[in-house]
Amino acid sequence: MIKNAHSHINNLGTPLTNDSGDIYFSNDDGLAQSHYVYYEQNNIDVRLQNHDQSHFVIAETGFGTGLNFLNTWQRFKDHLERMQVQNECEKSVKRLHYISFEKYPLTLTDLKQALTAWPTLSYFSEQLTVNYPINLEGCHRLEFNNGNVVLDLYFGDALESIQAMSYPQTGIVDAWYLNGLEPSKNPDMWQQSLFNSMADITRANATLSTFTAADFVQRGLIEAGFSTKKAKNFNQKEDMLTGQLKHVDNAQSTPAYFNQDSSTLKNVAVIGGGIASSCILYSLAKRGITSQLFCQDEKPAMGASHNVQGAIYPHLQAKNSPHSELFAHSFLYAKRLYNNLLSSGFNFDYDWCGVLQHAVKKPLADKHENLAQKQLWPTQLMRNVTAEQGDEIAGVTTGYSGVFFEQGGWVNPPQLVNAMLSAANSINPFKSVFNCNIKQLKKTDSGWFLLTNDEQLGPFSDVIICAGEHSDSFEQTKALPIVGVRGQVSHIEASEQSRKLKTVLCHKGYFTPAYLDHHCMGATFEKNTKSRQVTALDNQLNQEQLLSFYQQSEFASTLGNITSAKAAVRCTFIDHLPMAGQWCEQSDYIMAFANLRLGKRYQYEQLNKPQQGLHIFTGFGARALCSAPLSADHLVSCLNNEPRPLSERVSQAIHPARFIVRDLIRNKI
Ligand code: SAM
Repeated sequence: MIKNAHSHINNLGTPLTNDSGDIYFSNDDGLAQSHYVYYEQNNIDVRLQNHDQSHFVIAETGFGTGLNFLNTWQRFKDHLERMQVQNECEKSVKRLHYISFEKYPLTLTDLKQALTAWPTLSYFSEQLTVNYPINLEGCHRLEFNNGNVVLDLYFGDALESIQAMSYPQTGIVDAWYLNGLEPSKNPDMWQQSLFNSMADITRANATLSTFTAADFVQRGLIEAGFSTKKAKNFNQKEDMLTGQLKHVDNAQSTPAYFNQDSSTLKNVAVIGGGIASSCILYSLAKRGITSQLFCQDEKPAMGASHNVQGAIYPHLQAKNSPHSELFAHSFLYAKRLYNNLLSSGFNFDYDWCGVLQHAVKKPLADKHENLAQKQLWPTQLMRNVTAEQGDEIAGVTTGYSGVFFEQGGWVNPPQLVNAMLSAANSINPFKSVFNCNIKQLKKTDSGWFLLTNDEQLGPFSDVIICAGEHSDSFEQTKALPIVGVRGQVSHIEASEQSRKLKTVLCHKGYFTPAYLDHHCMGATFEKNTKSRQVTALDNQLNQEQLLSFYQQSEFASTLGNITSAKAAVRCTFIDHLPMAGQWCEQSDYIMAFANLRLGKRYQYEQLNKPQQGLHIFTGFGARALCSAPLSADHLVSCLNNEPRPLSERVSQAIHPARFIVRDLIRNKI
């Protein structure tokens, strides 16, 4: 669990830690110091005008009050405005990506107070404080200005955070701001293993700067592969250090069998019209990448994203598993994204009314007990409630204890998909083709083509398949181990009693607060059928299930008639995780990584990649509202050679090769 900093503000207005008494920045104009030591000494202004990528990545050890970030963001905004006036030179940077590590975050109250010292930064600090994350370990991806500025704020120890990251061989960081507390008081932030790990994620010729010139820091940086130089510090009395990466480390976090290729995303075909594809299109649009949407239906969200109300909450286990990590961070990211859409005028019906999961059966009660004992999750994410507390929250009497996700709620998924597509279109217009049934995918020397019965569409540099249960319908993807699960949701008339329900209830299924004077009640769960036909039997099953848990509760026993229903087949995989990444021919995998059968983690054949540029993004089951936005940004970040928001273990857990790799390791194929 992350613990906040114990800090206070001294009589000069500078925050300092209570533990060591060390200051966060100079008493003597911290903003000017930040600008001089970090922004200027890394020569950021000049480098933004001429860079080999359209994004520039700065990483910082020690986020503290975020002053360095806010100053850099302000300067970057000035850069973008200058570039616009000067008709924008080709090689100028369009997106700023700022990574920062913080083990003891300031509380939101302390952060707000500390930032009042900088009125010139108020436009930026207000946005930071609105989005400032809760105390959850790991990477919080915060986006500003339509994604032009990305802050990956890692809560946790800097070294552990870097070691958990997913990164490519080429590295990702262009400039380092080393801003731990005084080296003598904060040795963790200046240790050799941290410098070595920094080098692992650094790009060739990247620079660094730091306020200290301590000898052991200089030696450590040199040993890690940086050349260093002393420079005059801000006060012009002491020295500070600047440096550059000289010896590039070819480390990468990912074993060859889970590689995430980067590619030159020129024109991307996105197949599918639901939440998954709208998230991908949004992530592509933010980066100015050209794309086209192809959907077999007449309009968006007609498949598994078609429900009237979809619940959103994180699926958390009583252990710190890749699964929990994925859902916890995805949930927080999705909420930020949806709130940003709303505040930008892209509307959809929703209610952040919370989600209450009732312990309706012994295994659920045991799980909740386990969650209570482990105390892994911040209470803002999830908290245990007694039956009395739960009923108070819900506004109806049930008698069940449970867990409450106070930031959860429901959204109208088709409206959300339309809002996402409109938002993506407003950032970077793309073409949408509906009623378009893609039958085949064909790779040629000029790229990928999509074939319908009478048309050949393309070429595209990449194809991302987000077609849910239909994702395995192409020759190249027929080995996808999709498990289709049919689900029917019934819409039932509200009663005077049921209108009192204030939160989404989860039992074995879910029941929503009244919307358009109806509740959504569901869902059925049926494997091995592809039928989307609504059935009277499934409506009956939904009502029977609800009454089996709540027959004593008036909200459930007084409901009116079921007036309509929706059925769809959700696409899942056996490990209940989605799939995001490149898709390779299975036989090529078996040949290239045959040595995995012998327990070897090296000595592989070259992986044949005739299908390079083909990616899978599906398998979100009933949880796409929560998990699709961050996974989409992860996939696009991998492809675009950017910092990745998901850790290496989560990235591997959702990689399309996971089943085949597991079977090779177990010697099953
Ligand atoms: N850059 C900050 C700013 O603009 O306000 C000031 C950073 S302050 C000098 C150093 C920060 O490093 C503190 O916030 C402290 O909590 C953090 N820190 C200390 N040890 C750490 C560790 N092992 N991992 C990550 N952060 C750490």
